[in-house]
Amino acid sequence: MKLSYAVSFLRELLFPVGCALCGTALLNAEETRYGLCTECREKLRLEKTKRCNFCGRPLISELDSCISCRENHESLRPDKTIALFPYYGLYRQLLAAYKFGKNTCLGHFLAEKIMEAIKLFPFSEMPVLVPVPPRPGKIRKTGWDQIAYLALLLEREKSCRILRCLKRLPSETQKKLNREKRRGNLKGRIVSDKKVPRNLIIFDDVITTGSTFQACSAALREGGAERVYALSLFYD
Ligand SMILES: [Zn+2]
Ligand SMILES: [Zn+2]
Repeated sequence: MKLSYAVSFLRELLFPVGCALCGTALLNAEETRYGLCTECREKLRLEKTKRCNFCGRPLISELDSCISCRENHESLRPDKTIALFPYYGLYRQLLAAYKFGKNTCLGHFLAEKIMEAIKLFPFSEMPVLVPVPPRPGKIRKTGWDQIAYLALLLEREKSCRILRCLKRLPSETQKKLNREKRRGNLKGRIVSDKKVPRNLIIFDDVITTGSTFQACSAALREGGAERVYALSLFYD
């Protein structure tokens, strides 16, 4: 048994928290590592379905993009986006337990899903992941940076390289703004402070309008990127 598995198993024995989704007792080292019972973990499978090239949401049509992305043609958007889970039901509960409950075991589960999804992008060498810098006030609200924590876990797994090059310049809070304003508000407000490699993947927790990914992608292209991909854990 890996040491990190043993540590979480011991912690659960001494201070039982149970499954983050259904509360049932966690019975073995696998379950305690992910903070989820086997049954709940089985339900959180990655949908192996065709996705919209631009927003990453699952597609029902035979085309490569969804109606909304075809209607709102954005020149700044990433070359390909993958969004993993819908932001409702069990999945929403999962993010809440991770984000607001600070259940860091769930980070292992999410990091593993990110590693699975990275394989869906065309990389011939080690993929480079760029975390989206936290929104203003986000850390104050939850007390920690959940994306930075996932980046740390992924770095430890050595399956990709993490590049922390994006910085957010002060701007009005995004949530209060509509789509058009969001885009205008973000444009030029996210910058890259380093020269970047030719291909990379930006990653974030939730994609809604896609304006954050567009701003990040513009900043990375400015920094020298040619192909910019995006990966979001949830889509709203
Ligand atoms: Zn469960
Ligand atoms: Zn779309």
